[in-house]
Amino acid sequence: MKLRAPNYYKKFKCIADKCKDSCCSAGWEINIDERTANYYENVPGEFGDKLHENICNNSDGSSKCFKLDINNNCPFFNNQKLCEIYINLGEEHLCQICTDHPRYYEWFKNAKEAGIGLCCEEAARIILSQTEPFSTYEIEIPDEDCSEYDEELFLYLLNARNKIINLLNNSNSENFNSSIRSILEYCNRLQQNIDNYLSDDENFIEINNYSKADILKIMDFFLTLEPNDKNWLNYFKNCIHTYNSSAAKLSKYEKLHPEINNYLKNISIYFIWRYFLKGTFDEEIISKINLMAVSIAVLKILFFCKWIECGNITLSDCINIVKKYSEEIEYDENNIIKLADACYEIPEFNIENLIGLF
Ligand code: SF4
Ligand code: SF4
Repeated sequence: MKLRAPNYYKKFKCIADKCKDSCCSAGWEINIDERTANYYENVPGEFGDKLHENICNNSDGSSKCFKLDINNNCPFFNNQKLCEIYINLGEEHLCQICTDHPRYYEWFKNAKEAGIGLCCEEAARIILSQTEPFSTYEIEIPDEDCSEYDEELFLYLLNARNKIINLLNNSNSENFNSSIRSILEYCNRLQQNIDNYLSDDENFIEINNYSKADILKIMDFFLTLEPNDKNWLNYFKNCIHTYNSSAAKLSKYEKLHPEINNYLKNISIYFIWRYFLKGTFDEEIISKINLMAVSIAVLKILFFCKWIECGNITLSDCINIVKKYSEEIEYDENNIIKLADACYEIPEFNIENLIGLF
């Protein structure tokens, strides 16, 4: 089978102690795969003792995990911000999650797709700073299993994803918003086709006649999501307040910083690449496309608020904001489920309303 990944995937290398906000101190439960857990169990000596003392059962009892320390750090994350398992046992003895992160994978019949996730600052830097059109590469790898799916639907969505990425690749700072509107409308038609077992080929149409929608209702919904970092909600509330009092300056900011739309374009392609084809397994693409659109609309406001607050905004500011957003929203399974439900239950999340945000 083939491994298919964005060209930027090859550029990723963890920056370890240079990382400002390491994933080893993110407070996540770090599950240890069975093979590695067995290996750790038999490590002798002083370091073996430390390993055995710091491993317990995970929250649902399905595997072993590391006991986080009092600051919610991995117990093997040392004062120099380096991994003691890596130092003492070598990279090959990191557990699967630590080896993979922030890489992600999706399995299909003849291809395993991969990418790097925005919750890592180095991955976010690579993704946001892309100036070349998004492109992918393939290499041959040994076969791996995948879940069952309908091949016809897979090919239908694969063709649609190529079209969407192509449209975004060809969009620029001026027509980025209109591309997102067209993509939303196009996906709405695709979903109707899927629901009615049709495989009609659809094309994009320009959406110039639409009602403007209010991002604040979407922002308010975000306040109902479970925070991972206790500072997140206050930060988000401050942004709502800043936006409320400064929205009139938005168009000046957009003129001053056309590069922001390039960052947003790269982020939108990331969401499409990573999530759109998951529709193959559940025949549902609305929640995937909404996640992209809502994320772009919210990040746009968070970037703007940084500019209001500091009088400037840099690539590094955008990376920090995107990383935090990804950790809080994208990498929290419960929040993703709530956002997916919102598409069907909350009027502000329907496609017509989302079109009005762009
Ligand atoms: S967040 Fe990324 S760069 Fe930082 S330590 Fe984790 S994998 Fe490395
Ligand atoms: S085991 Fe090492 S790489 Fe994994 S979370 Fe702990 S410190 Fe980080």
